[in-house]
Amino acid sequence: MAYLHSTALLLGIKDPHIKLTHGLQEESYGDVQQFRSSVQSTSLDVKGAHRKVLTVTGHLDHLPQACSHCGCLNQSCHDIIRNGTMNSVVLLGQYNYQPVYLKLKKQRYLCKHCRRTTVAITPLTRRHCFISNAVKYVIIEELAQM
Ligand SMILES: [Zn+2]
Repeated sequence: MAYLHSTALLLGIKDPHIKLTHGLQEESYGDVQQFRSSVQSTSLDVKGAHRKVLTVTGHLDHLPQACSHCGCLNQSCHDIIRNGTMNSVVLLGQYNYQPVYLKLKKQRYLCKHCRRTTVAITPLTRRHCFISNAVKYVIIEELAQM
């Protein structure tokens, strides 16, 4: 779908391992946060939950070359296998004064040697972070101009 490629280009999603499944949509912030695996519905504040935000939805699948825990190389399906997904919500920036979020399903992998799992990583964000690096660079640039 060509429009998804255009959307990715417009939002600066350059990682080839992220495949967008839905283009830009308008949703409430509360619904977007519900997408995350770790958020409980009671932890959202009521006032901000109805604020409208833009979202795109995608899937990240990047099979690692080696286990990040034990270091064994991934040479066949006997080493590292896909093991479910983890949902996350990444802040990409703003468009028309509305925040844009990427609802990302990250592939999880299981190492058959050490029995530990790891999640696919992307250069879009740092590990365990939900704010894109582009947003951080804009903040640093604006602070430097003060
Ligand atoms: Zn391992």
